Amino acid sequence: MRIELHFGDITEYTADCIVNAARPSLLGGGGVDGAIHRKAGMALSEFCKTLGGCSVGEAKISPAFNLPAQNIIHTVGPRYLFKSESEIQDLKNCYLNSLEIAKKHKFKTVVFSNISTGAYGFPKDLASTISFETVTSFLLENEFPEKVIFCCYDVENLELYLNLIKEKI
Ligand code: ADP
Repeated sequence: MRIELHFGDITEYTADCIVNAARPSLLGGGGVDGAIHRKAGMALSEFCKTLGGCSVGEAKISPAFNLPAQNIIHTVGPRYLFKSESEIQDLKNCYLNSLEIAKKHKFKTVVFSNISTGAYGFPKDLASTISFETVTSFLLENEFPEKVIFCCYDVENLELYLNLIKEKI
């Protein structure tokens, strides 16, 4: 019950927190990052300039400015270059570090898209399995966030997460 699967655009959520698949500069890029920065407005990149960038697997928080959400957690996903264990660990760290921030702020709801599966090239099935397993184990051990929403922007992601949820029931 603490997991939900949605089909839609992450920039439209009124949740206390959405997670951005950011670039290391935190100054915007393509994909979900571009959509978030466009809608949040210039104030977001002005604020992000003060954060000093973000390493792969780490996460930083900002207000969400013109977005309906209240906060944005920016995490930098790994590129899928060498198909290595360390790339997989980096992707897990994106979720863990984002969830740790949400826990610290006692956020009720955190919305994730499938990090690294656009420009950064992770196969969606591998990335969705990593994210689902990392999130469900974190929720079992922690009271906050109360709920995690997997926001799918395409049918392939929706089907992958649906199958992962079905396997758990
Ligand atoms: P990365 O650079 O980490 O690969 P992308 O933004 O290119 O990030 O893609 C990550 C995932 O975000 C992809 O699965 C893509 O379908 C999804 N995505 C793109 N735009 C949106 C959006 N507006 N809302 C939710 N998910 C999105």
